[in-house]
Amino acid sequence: MSDATPPAPPAAVEGALSQLLKPIRGRLVAAAALAGLGTVLTLLPLAGIAYLATVALGPATFGLATADSTAWVWAVIAGSLACLALGMILISLGEMLAHLLDNRITAHLRLAITRRLAKVPLGWFTARASGEVKQAMQDDVDTLHSLTAHFYTTVGRALGAVLFATLYLFAMDWRMALVSLLPFPLFFLFVSRATRASSANMQAFGAGMARINNAVVEFVNGITVVKSFGVEGKAQANYREAVDSFALAFQDFARPLVSAMANAHALITPVVVLGIVLTFGTLFTWLGWIEAIDLLPFLLVAPSLCAPLLLLSYITHDLHNATAAALRIQQLLNTPVLPGPTHAASTLLPRAELRVQNVSYSYDGETPVLSDIDLTLEPGTVTAVVGPSGAGKSTLARLLLRFFDPDAGSITLGGVDLRQIDSVQLYRHVGFVLQDIRLIHASLRENIALGRASASLEEIEQAARLANVHERIIALPRGYESVVGEDAQLSGGELQRVSIARAVLLDPAVLVLDEATAAADAENEMQIQQALSRFAHGRTVLVIAHRLDTVMHADQIILIDHGRIQEQGTHAQLLAAGGRYARLWQAGGYSHTECTEHAPC
Ligand code: ATP
Repeated sequence: MSDATPPAPPAAVEGALSQLLKPIRGRLVAAAALAGLGTVLTLLPLAGIAYLATVALGPATFGLATADSTAWVWAVIAGSLACLALGMILISLGEMLAHLLDNRITAHLRLAITRRLAKVPLGWFTARASGEVKQAMQDDVDTLHSLTAHFYTTVGRALGAVLFATLYLFAMDWRMALVSLLPFPLFFLFVSRATRASSANMQAFGAGMARINNAVVEFVNGITVVKSFGVEGKAQANYREAVDSFALAFQDFARPLVSAMANAHALITPVVVLGIVLTFGTLFTWLGWIEAIDLLPFLLVAPSLCAPLLLLSYITHDLHNATAAALRIQQLLNTPVLPGPTHAASTLLPRAELRVQNVSYSYDGETPVLSDIDLTLEPGTVTAVVGPSGAGKSTLARLLLRFFDPDAGSITLGGVDLRQIDSVQLYRHVGFVLQDIRLIHASLRENIALGRASASLEEIEQAARLANVHERIIALPRGYESVVGEDAQLSGGELQRVSIARAVLLDPAVLVLDEATAAADAENEMQIQQALSRFAHGRTVLVIAHRLDTVMHADQIILIDHGRIQEQGTHAQLLAAGGRYARLWQAGGYSHTECTEHAPC
């Protein structure tokens, strides 16, 4: 799905890359310089060999070996070996440095993303699949590896090789240098032409790929619906269509690329380069421009350019993925955060009152989901929020938990605006149990103690007992050490009770419950209700419920519809008023009951 997003403008990509690499850029350049210098040194022995061969076979010294020339030959051999060893050491150092820097930037980025995500509104996560965060934190950071650990050193090596070969070969004979090096600029010319030709079809290629992904996800996610409604053929047809259209897009994308790339790569294979050097060398020798022995430097050095340049071409291909990954990471790092407290909040009273004043909120900045909500949760009281589906009940709960800030109005806890309360302090005071149960991949003990890692096993067990889940946990083979999904398979209601135990352990003064029994069957629902009423005792509670009989004893009941408070009072007051609540109660007691012409409420 994300593949379908249009490519970012080049300036944005460059900006994202330079931002990400800023902390290590200088050292990456140093790694590239080491690799480049190392490459020059490893190529110097080729010049040494060419020199020795010329000395040994050249007409001036042919068959003669003076003491001086012998010493000089040994000096050249020793120098060449030293250069080779030093060159290899420098290349290794460059590669090692680049990998260390890759390691450092990877850790730095993961930490930076974690720090950023810790400050984004909690509501941001509800709108995003965990897959999106995982993609950036894990896959994209890994993808950067080819850029940080390999690209710079490969460029360094290629530049070192090109620089050495050009200077050395031109110094030997400029005409032979020109023809020997000709395949390399031609290679880049062909590659850039081929890339340009196929990039016109890149978007169609990406869109085709995204269609296949969507068709697969749709098929797998909806497999039960697809099977039970007998529409297998249709789902498969969608997939087949997506594959067929991708095949066409792929042909258009690949046709100009494949043959041109194959020709370009063939151009810089050692055999072809040797063939060119030998052909032109023979011609130039025949023309009397060069001695046959003087071809040796070209035969030795020109083919040595092939490997680094081919490597550069392959790594440049990976660079495309790395830059796209860099852009996604940078976007994640730029996610807007909730403004932090501007001054230290006064110490919150343990029995603080929660007040919602003139609060309005919209998700998209246009359609109001909540308007002018005024509400006070007195300490130690239970407030129930009821209303039809989509009325804005959960949004109100999320605002109380500061998943996001209201567009207008304010929410205060003990007289202090939530915006002024540090999130750690806020969540110590306000606990919540939501419909959406999230457990981390850790033992049940660690999951319950998530908000209070210092809690003793005794305290954890006590919380689990209060949440009616202790018996179930100790019945598991590894008890509290069991990991959900590995050696503990718990039902929705049981997981809900684990999340209640987690809230219990925090012992918050205020408790927000959003349809905490939604995932439970009748038996579980009873257990959860028992747990919650024990837990809620003496606390300030806001509870969202669909069944009116579960909240009839609340201190106040708020009926919300279309984002506004329509009715407010106790069960008895609302019944006596004979309004919407009373009609819902008489119609069966479900706040979700639709009011229609045929079934007015
Ligand atoms: P239900 O009882 O069905 O859970 P609700 O009363 O809790 O409904 P909310 O979940 O608060 O209703 O939703 C109120 C409105 O806001 C709905 O129209 C819903 O589509 C919209 N909405 C909810 N969450 C989001 C979101 N993350 N982004 C955009 N719109 C949202």
